[in-house]
Amino acid sequence: MLELFSPTFQAESLNGISIERLVRDGIRGLIIDLDNTMTPWNDPEISPGVQKWFAELQAAGIQSCVVSNNKHRGRVAVVAEKLGIPFVFRATKPRGRAFRTGMKIMQTGPKDTAVIGDQLFTDILGGNRLNLYTILVVPISKHEFVGTRFLRWMEKILIWLIKHFAPAKNIALKRPD
Ligand SMILES: [Mg+2]
Repeated sequence: MLELFSPTFQAESLNGISIERLVRDGIRGLIIDLDNTMTPWNDPEISPGVQKWFAELQAAGIQSCVVSNNKHRGRVAVVAEKLGIPFVFRATKPRGRAFRTGMKIMQTGPKDTAVIGDQLFTDILGGNRLNLYTILVVPISKHEFVGTRFLRWMEKILIWLIKHFAPAKNIALKRPD
């Protein structure tokens, strides 16, 4: 059961993910969470570091698609459009539908698609259920949707369990200070 919540690896931030490693692992498409993964929660500003990372991603021939549980189309669209990438909003992750939509848009499949996000219960669980490559990032900020805060408590327990009972996995120990 813990395996379902264990990412392939963890990174400090989105732009801390090695594009070389993605290329080496045969990744051609990324399904990327929005809030607290690409930008702080409910904030349209994309940091220069993240912008540069997306430019490098494009140069490496890796596609991306924003897949967000955010219910507001405008919030998701404004960030995706700045980067010129497709998006899916109201995704209801961890359900599989939006992940499959993302892969359809990018014309990728389970073998060459990675999911990147800051939450175990939506991004990582959803990606692992479909046997995708999953990357957990440290949330950009502590501010988040009220419903997420409860899940963070559950996450803490899970992280402890994974650390103690599935130590082979390089699990998320870092959260924002
Ligand atoms: Mg998020």
